[in-house]
Amino acid sequence: MKKLVVITGASSGIGMETAKRFSENGHPTLLISRRKEIMESLNLKDSISVKADVTNLEEVRAAIKMAEDKYGKTDLLINCAGVMLLGNIDKQSYEEWKKMIDVNINGILTTTNIILPDMVKRNEGTIINISSIAGRKTFKNHGVYCGSKFAVHAISESIREEVADKNVRVIVLAPGVVETNLLEHTTNETIKANYVEWKKSIGNGLNASDIVNCIEFAYNMPQDICVRELVIAKTKQID
Ligand code: NDP
Repeated sequence: MKKLVVITGASSGIGMETAKRFSENGHPTLLISRRKEIMESLNLKDSISVKADVTNLEEVRAAIKMAEDKYGKTDLLINCAGVMLLGNIDKQSYEEWKKMIDVNINGILTTTNIILPDMVKRNEGTIINISSIAGRKTFKNHGVYCGSKFAVHAISESIREEVADKNVRVIVLAPGVVETNLLEHTTNETIKANYVEWKKSIGNGLNASDIVNCIEFAYNMPQDICVRELVIAKTKQID
């Protein structure tokens, strides 16, 4: 059997497509999100679906233990779980800011905290963090989202420098707009409508499968080659 792949945010969008592809490729998978029934309905072979909040260290620890007891140590961790709550900075609630910081930053730290030490000990393993172009440049109405994704870039790159000599790869993927449910959680209807209009003007977003192609490409390079960062967007997306 191939090695275990752990995917957060597997109930939707990029995480779900990633789960399907790695399962098709013969990997056992651990799927984590809060909507277990959706993940289970994928009916993937050699797969465990666990309802867990990525910000809850103990829930995530229990999920990973269950999968590793069954399938062996994690070879690939893909942190897809994330939220994007766009808003006017002077009107948006503190709760929305906090949620983005919690899920987008703490949500990659829980899994990393549990999985990375073993990878370092074994001298192998790969972590792929899904950041965003909003983690490389700022956009209006994206203030805290950009902050959370800049943090993903900074934390990932710093970890990469620290574990590179242990043969562990840390990869950041920075997509432009992708056709998923990500925008649905934004509560400001005007911003949402403008975003949809802008998306149409660039011929809509990438498909989740385009992102999975990048994940596969980076993972399938030999372990001694690290694709440090991949940036991908529709050709017509200028910013
Ligand atoms: P979706 O909204 O389709 O999926 C988000 C996933 O995150 C869901 O599976 C959701 O599961 C999970 N999630 C959210 N909060 C939590 C939580 N507290 N605990 C566990 N899981 C959680 O969005 P995408 O697939 O587009 O997003 C995936 C990643 O890609 C995100 O990090 C996003 O920032 C990034 N990205 C997306 C872009 C886009 O345009 N779509 C562009 C650039 C980056 P559930 O609700 O069941 O818990």
